[in-house]
Amino acid sequence: MAKFDGYKDIYVFVEQKDGNIADVGYELISEARKLVASMPEMGFNVVGVLLGSGIKDKAGEVIAHGADKVIVVDDPLLKDYNTQFYADALTQVVNEFKPDSFLTGATVEGRDLAPRVAARLNAGLTADATKIAIDLDKVKDGEALLLVTRPTFGGNLFGTIVCPNTRPQMATIRPKVFDMAPVDETRTGEVIEFAPKWETTEPEVTILEVEPKLAEGIDITKADILIGAGRGAEGSLDYLNEVAKELGGEVCATRAVVEDGFADKAVQVGQTGKTVRPTLYIACGISGAVQHVAGMEKSDFIIAINRDPEAEIFKIANLGYVGKIEEVMPLLVEEIKKA
Ligand code: FAD
Repeated sequence: MAKFDGYKDIYVFVEQKDGNIADVGYELISEARKLVASMPEMGFNVVGVLLGSGIKDKAGEVIAHGADKVIVVDDPLLKDYNTQFYADALTQVVNEFKPDSFLTGATVEGRDLAPRVAARLNAGLTADATKIAIDLDKVKDGEALLLVTRPTFGGNLFGTIVCPNTRPQMATIRPKVFDMAPVDETRTGEVIEFAPKWETTEPEVTILEVEPKLAEGIDITKADILIGAGRGAEGSLDYLNEVAKELGGEVCATRAVVEDGFADKAVQVGQTGKTVRPTLYIACGISGAVQHVAGMEKSDFIIAINRDPEAEIFKIANLGYVGKIEEVMPLLVEEIKKA
């Protein structure tokens, strides 16, 4: 009998707000599909778990994004995210269906929810991961051991963590580190409705008001156009902010700029900042250190402006301009507007 008899499949928590599903759920489903394909002998499925109120009709969308099955927990108590009811419901889902692995986005919600569920289940959890794989040697013994890699020691090292003794193997994974597979509307799958048994319907915490912090739109992971400001752009930040507004984008920054006090940590891109993949990334006065590049190299199109022709950033740029930001940027903006 296998060590974890009855535990099967890779589950993904599909985060949603007001019925809008966050991309990270689909990114994780796409990556889970690759893991499942790497070990066909295990016969695993990819299962999406969708919690909310009035969200049943979203299951088809989750299947179109690559899930084989979707477990839907549709209950008025789950209308808005709250730790108590979400953790209760998810723990019951795990106890009922016994996933072998359980992935959630390392979002504000996922970081709150996953550790609570893991603690209740006495399961191992690796937080804030950037890579996942299966130990294929173990597959021969009927085990789908998840190798979860995350930056550690301030980003100086990467550690790969395994949870060999407990199930499910849980991980929170940063948004934007995996590609989202194309949607396939012809995919079919199974939808399973699950009704949790509430011990109490009295909330421990009542939210009186929600004030969105990102009212001014400074969520760089969602921006379609990003202007990356490096140390060479510290004197041009006001101008770059104006340009970003004009182009409908946002300004993000390197760690050097954040440490120099010119930008907030929330807009730092890179290994110890955020991972972004906009349609257009304009790197201004950025040298191209590996730690920065790690967070933006998957952008669709990269333009680099640097006065140093030897700057590393040119190696990953689709288009490079050698010159001063103050001189090159106005010309570039004119060209972009014409395009
Ligand atoms: P610099 O390296 O100082 O480059 C400035 C560039 O601007 C130069 O290439 C220069 O030629 C150019 N320049 C100057 N003036 C002009 C001008 N007028 N016009 C055009 N070009 C000009 N960095 C990150 O960004 N994100 C991270 O998450 C991150 N994590 C890290 C984690 C660890 C553990 C470590 C050790 C480092 C990390 N770093 C990170 C820092 C990283 O190594 C670099 O130091 C940093 O990215 C450099 O920032 P920069 O390119 O803005 O500055």
